[in-house]
Amino acid sequence: MTIADVVFDAPVRHSFSYRVPDGWALVPGQRARAPLRGAARVGMVVAVRAGAEEGLKPLARLVDAEPVLTTAQLDLAGWIAAQSLSSVGSTCAALLPPPASGEAAGFVERADPVAERSGAPKPALLIGAGRERRVLERLEATTGAALVIAADVETVARWAQRLAKIDRVVRLDSGVPDEERAGAWRALRGGSARLAAGTRSALLAPLPAPATLVLIDEHEAAHKPPGPPRMHSRDVALERAARESLALLFTTATPSAEAWWRAESGLVDMPSREPGPWPAVSIADTRGILRREPLTPPLSRAIRETLAAKRRVFLVVSRLTSSLACDECGAVVRCAACAIAFAYSRAAARLVCRVCGASRPLPDTCAECHGRRLTPFGWGAERVEHAVRRRFPDARIARWDPDSARGARGDAQRAAAAAADVVIGTRGALRLFGPAALGLAAFVAPDQLLRAPDFRAGERTLALAWAAAERVAADGALIIQSQNPGHYAFEAVARQNLQEFYRQELKFRAELGYPPFRRLAVVTIRAGQSDETRKLADAVGAALGGSKGLTVYPSIADRSDRMRRIVAKGGADLPHRLDEALREFKAPSGGRGIIDVEVDPVEWPF
Ligand SMILES: [Zn+2]
Ligand SMILES: [Zn+2]
Repeated sequence: MTIADVVFDAPVRHSFSYRVPDGWALVPGQRARAPLRGAARVGMVVAVRAGAEEGLKPLARLVDAEPVLTTAQLDLAGWIAAQSLSSVGSTCAALLPPPASGEAAGFVERADPVAERSGAPKPALLIGAGRERRVLERLEATTGAALVIAADVETVARWAQRLAKIDRVVRLDSGVPDEERAGAWRALRGGSARLAAGTRSALLAPLPAPATLVLIDEHEAAHKPPGPPRMHSRDVALERAARESLALLFTTATPSAEAWWRAESGLVDMPSREPGPWPAVSIADTRGILRREPLTPPLSRAIRETLAAKRRVFLVVSRLTSSLACDECGAVVRCAACAIAFAYSRAAARLVCRVCGASRPLPDTCAECHGRRLTPFGWGAERVEHAVRRRFPDARIARWDPDSARGARGDAQRAAAAAADVVIGTRGALRLFGPAALGLAAFVAPDQLLRAPDFRAGERTLALAWAAAERVAADGALIIQSQNPGHYAFEAVARQNLQEFYRQELKFRAELGYPPFRRLAVVTIRAGQSDETRKLADAVGAALGGSKGLTVYPSIADRSDRMRRIVAKGGADLPHRLDEALREFKAPSGGRGIIDVEVDPVEWPF
């Protein structure tokens, strides 16, 4: 009898065994429907073996006529699952296109060669002006297969258009119908298409050697969407490229600190580049200015001049953050041990550190200047819009926050913004503007970004300010109004000097033990009532604390008090250590609550 071991999109580690119906030529890497808890569910076949187990149910139906993954890729999926503490079944489900609706009948031949692993070329990090053009030139110069991965469907569509000028290109993202995606997968494997573009779900698409894998906007948090496997596409791409000897290209205006560090360490090439055109950048000091008005005089003047020249203005606003800062000197109230902003809870009238859990009452005065105005103050988009309308009644003004306005309302806002002279928007609204499309970009109060209780606050601020600068014409202006005018992220943008930013950022990361020098994980615990959650969190904390090489902080309750989080720091083997320590809690019989682990979080989750 032939037995197939199948894994499913569920948080269980083990596989389920089924009888392979007679006459099926099944191999690992194919998906099949199989009965599980009363329903026929799609699973990935991870092993096919001879055996004699009694009472096994038969597989119901083949989903893929041919394997969608080679054994080497199944192996890679196993590595991703182990690193991200996900199940192999969930990893496969997230990193494959949905099965086409016309499922295969059961007779196939095994055809896939296992990818060779030998002397992979060094990955390259392309930064600076013209980085995307350089990718196209490289792809034009090769005849091998190439896969371009972008963070969102809009960017994939843009890349598909560009690639189409080189050769036939297929799409592997949800911007095209499921049938087309499945066809694209086959076309790549069969060699009838050599160029493909897709989002994260295309990361394991077949790439016959010699092939190139490209990741656009390497620094994007969107490359690590919610849901398993919780791993950044950059890390999957690095591992895949090494295993399959792929040429790997990253593009980004502002690399993640992790990627910059790799380049500095010689693990990744970073070809030198010409500095592109750059606007005049000025930083307006807003310390101690009475904040009844979001526009400083220099900014008002610049808006007036830009509108008079019939050019466009983009004012960047940020969501309000939950931290406290001094209006007089701009100092942010931070945890001394972790160096990130304390989170401010108005209800509890306390400050809490979201890494180590330290808590303290609200201070009356600023520790730096003894000023008495410590506020969670910031400018929301509506108030900024109001101020601009009052001053420039004749201008066409629109507000757009793509992350909060969706559907028909979002479309209407976007259309209005696309036609406006002055757009007031959040980070996502930047995508309205191509390179050098603006006469003026300005940050109304980017201090909100710097105050985010996240060790990546500096990197995020740099990325946004740099992206805004790239969208301003060389004879235009970028104005940054800030209570932290000397911050190294702003200075790097003003001088168009990335080196300067990463020198300081990596120093900070090394001193405080943040990535890339240490790895972090957030363990989330939920168990019904707050008492039970606390007990379970204590037990989890004790189990983690017993593991050598882990630094484990006390658990922190969320606002509802039904969920607690524990931050753990460790070295390269962090996933393995967590897995070992949590094995007892992850057993199916454990059943005491929900324990969720996120390794290498990119968005501080609370
Ligand atoms: Zn102060
Ligand atoms: Zn702390």
